[in-house]
Amino acid sequence: MERFYWSGLSEEMRESALSRPAAIGDDKLVASVREIMAGVKSGGDKAVSNYTAKFDGVKSETHLIPAEELEAAWEALPDADKTAIETAKSNIEQFHLAQRPQDISVKTMKGVYCRRESRAIGTAGLYVPGGTAPLVSTLLMLAIPAKVAGVRNRIVVTPPAKDGHINQAILAAAHRCEVTAVYACGGAQAIAALAYGTETIPKCDKIFGPGNAWVATAKSLAAQEPGGPGIDLPAGPSEAMVLAGRKSNAVFVASDLLSQAEHDTLAQVVCVTTSPDKAQEIEDAVQEQLQTLPRKEIAEQALEYARIIIADSRADVVDIVNRYAPEHLIIQMKDPEMLVPKIRNVGSIFLGPWTPEAVGDYASGTNHTLPTYGAARAYSGVTLESFIKYISVQRLTKKGLKNLGPTVERLATMEELEAHRRAVSLRLETLND
Ligand code: NAD
Repeated sequence: MERFYWSGLSEEMRESALSRPAAIGDDKLVASVREIMAGVKSGGDKAVSNYTAKFDGVKSETHLIPAEELEAAWEALPDADKTAIETAKSNIEQFHLAQRPQDISVKTMKGVYCRRESRAIGTAGLYVPGGTAPLVSTLLMLAIPAKVAGVRNRIVVTPPAKDGHINQAILAAAHRCEVTAVYACGGAQAIAALAYGTETIPKCDKIFGPGNAWVATAKSLAAQEPGGPGIDLPAGPSEAMVLAGRKSNAVFVASDLLSQAEHDTLAQVVCVTTSPDKAQEIEDAVQEQLQTLPRKEIAEQALEYARIIIADSRADVVDIVNRYAPEHLIIQMKDPEMLVPKIRNVGSIFLGPWTPEAVGDYASGTNHTLPTYGAARAYSGVTLESFIKYISVQRLTKKGLKNLGPTVERLATMEELEAHRRAVSLRLETLND
């Protein structure tokens, strides 16, 4: 892990210390994603099949997984796995149910009534990553809030494994969460299918879910198209920042760093500590735990982008967090709650030694689809509201128009929009008769 002493760094060096691995926005990547998307737009299902053969090594004409296969997967799931899914489902459901928005109704003037009502998105495309690990947890994190929000069509896409099959736990969870349909395709081609629709895959109003650089790039390109779908947020390769104090447990800190590093070769982990001795202890623990990880190769590559930053004070620590805007922030320092109000830019926070980042990934109840690459400065992670739109409604009585009309007439005159003024004046004249 590259080591930095924050107080000795120039502004430019600080920026470089907090830079991400170049992935999103890379010109070559964007060009290749554009090509894949154009291929699917014109070629439909056949193009999806061709790209699935090329990138996933799987030949298949059809992508839809029959509903009976989903049910059979649930039936065949070992009881212990079923229980784990049920527990996670219950916690995710509780936390997202509590986010149900209230309708708002306000009388802004006598006779002027304004309301805000919520409506669920009609068709949601849910991307469940499956490239290097079958993320059954992502299925739960997307399908449960979509259902709770009242989304009518909940369409799942997920890449097939080399043998052509979708992981059985993903299929089982899809059945349990009552998704509308599951299609075996992934990467940019699956995002394109959700964005444009194909002969078999429905065009979606909004696309949700994390994924690798191809998926994240395809989502942002789809959202830029005129009339294109909405997207939840930029959620690319994972990141974690761990704050460690003098007395924190180096083994725990290392385990959190590695649990993100094992996701993707482009994942980034950063440790910030006020203690140089602890920095060394943490590095040693990372190396020790790394040796026995089954995904050692992936984690090792990710660790090439890993950083340990030594800060002089808690104020510097907070400054580093807000500049970096991590997807996950794990605080293993004294009085972690005290830091929370000072933190502005982050996807999700994990407090204290007994809250490993993995609990949020799976089952505490919070959503694990979170903004990466600094997007936490402007975006929240997925919430129930991500699946909801708001519409506004207004109604004026005669008295209301008499009260408000002159203001609108004046403003319309200021804007030199005569038809607007008349729409009010003509009505007011009838009231004055
Ligand atoms: P994935 O499903 O995102 O991607 C796999 C697909 O990528 C394949 O199906 C293939 O079609 C495509 N692909 C691979 N190589 C390609 C190439 N050379 N050209 C074109 N397409 C190619 O699965 P993954 O790769 O395991 O990545 C999952 C990602 O999701 C990880 O980066 C993980 O960190 C991230 N993640 C993020 C969050 C979040 O909330 N931000 C949550 C969970 C996971």
